[in-house]
Amino acid sequence: MAWDFSTDPEFQEKLDWVDRFCQEKVEPLDFVFPHAVRWPEPVVKAYVRELQQEVKDQGLWAIFLDRELGGPGFGQLRLALLNEVIGRYPGAPAMFGAAAPDTGNMEILAAYGTEEQKKRWLEPLLNQDMFSAYSMTEPQGGSDPNLFKTHAERDGDEWIINGEKWFTSAGRVADLLFVMCTNGMFVVPRTTPGVEIMPEPRNHNHIIYRDVRVPLDHLLGPENGAKVLAQRRLGGGRIHHAMRTIAQCKLAFDIMCERALSRESHGRIIAEHQMVQEKIAESYAAIKMLRLFVLETAWKIDQTSTLEARTDIAAVKFTMAKVLREVSYNALHILGSLGTTDLTPIQAMYASAPTMGIADGVDEVHKATVARRVLHGYRPHDGYWPTEYIPAKREEAWRRMRPVLDARPDLARAAEKYAARR
Ligand SMILES: Cc1cc2nc3c(=O)[nH]c(=O)nc-3n(C[C@H](O)[C@H](O)[C@H](O)COP(=O)(O)OP(=O)(O)OC[C@H]3O[C@@H](n4cnc5c(N)ncnc54)[C@H](O)[C@@H]3O)c2cc1C
Repeated sequence: MAWDFSTDPEFQEKLDWVDRFCQEKVEPLDFVFPHAVRWPEPVVKAYVRELQQEVKDQGLWAIFLDRELGGPGFGQLRLALLNEVIGRYPGAPAMFGAAAPDTGNMEILAAYGTEEQKKRWLEPLLNQDMFSAYSMTEPQGGSDPNLFKTHAERDGDEWIINGEKWFTSAGRVADLLFVMCTNGMFVVPRTTPGVEIMPEPRNHNHIIYRDVRVPLDHLLGPENGAKVLAQRRLGGGRIHHAMRTIAQCKLAFDIMCERALSRESHGRIIAEHQMVQEKIAESYAAIKMLRLFVLETAWKIDQTSTLEARTDIAAVKFTMAKVLREVSYNALHILGSLGTTDLTPIQAMYASAPTMGIADGVDEVHKATVARRVLHGYRPHDGYWPTEYIPAKREEAWRRMRPVLDARPDLARAAEKYAARR
């Protein structure tokens, strides 16, 4: 029997180690030095490196990378189980060398980069000596890549890039910008002349690329291959987001349950009020459904590929946004006024929920993809009525049973009696 919902004990030990490490070391570090991996101060950097060495000693560095790409090769299912722990702590992905947007950029570098490109960019990114950003969305429209205009023109031994990008996360602090052009994916050092970062928005940057010149070897993958690279990058990224979203939902759920047992109103603890119980029960079921869906999709990717599993990845993508929205809302509501403040993680989690339905592709586009792909497995019925039209099915059943009824008159009489009762 192949269905097995348990984790093997050896890997469970790893998960337990990660959980302890995150609780005892990552969470305190996050409160004292938020975004510690990016702190330039040598003494902080040294401490971060010390902790990261512990992660490396456990074989848990860059956990998202397959073995042939230079990572531990856990596969997506084990990665999902790890991310379920790590995703609870905002600073943890970076401590495990697995923080977006670097992960996706490293993945396409590892998969499509030349040896020289890997040496120049992948190694420093893996070691966090460099940080990167991903420049794909454009101001005139993000959901439809056919509207993108940023283009690279070849000029001797250089490419000249012209265009405008919108919402490049962490672009202003990146060393490298992965720029999707209509004719290829390019790696552009941020300090290259012609890269102009607009003052707003602060964290997800509006960038103008004006006559930006890069050498020929800054093209990543084949010429005109940007869409393939983008698919590879985003497909993996989406399921990884979903894995970490489970952790966020569980955190909201834990906060909600603890509070429900701690507050009193109208003569009883609030957990005894049925409408509070409804929120808890529905959140519990929603998280379970999301978790099983994510784990099964991760398993499917391991058995086949990201491409093969794309219907489920798209379905997971909008489902996680919905579940996060519902569960974080329920938690916020049960916390009452406290839930509306920034004194617990709930308010930020609820505020981030709509973002999950937009980043990496809006819900509508993923829903359309799922519906389109699922419908490939169906065909229209003949005539006026659906296949499950009951009068037609009944008629067909009588036709099929006719030989049996003809051979057994007693059964035929019983059938006539049943029919007369209808
Ligand atoms: C937190 C965050 C981080 C991001 N980071 C990056 C990044 O690092 N790099 C990067 O390049 N981009 C990034 N993005 C941008 C993201 O990829 C885009 O926001 C997304 O692709 C949608 O594009 P848009 O914002 O232009 O929305 P639009 O395409 O203008 O869509 C707006 C709305 O129109 C409707 N709509 C659009 N298309 C359809 C359709 N086909 N069917 C039905 N309805 C539709 C939907 O209601 C949709 O929400 C990030 C976004 C967020 C929120």
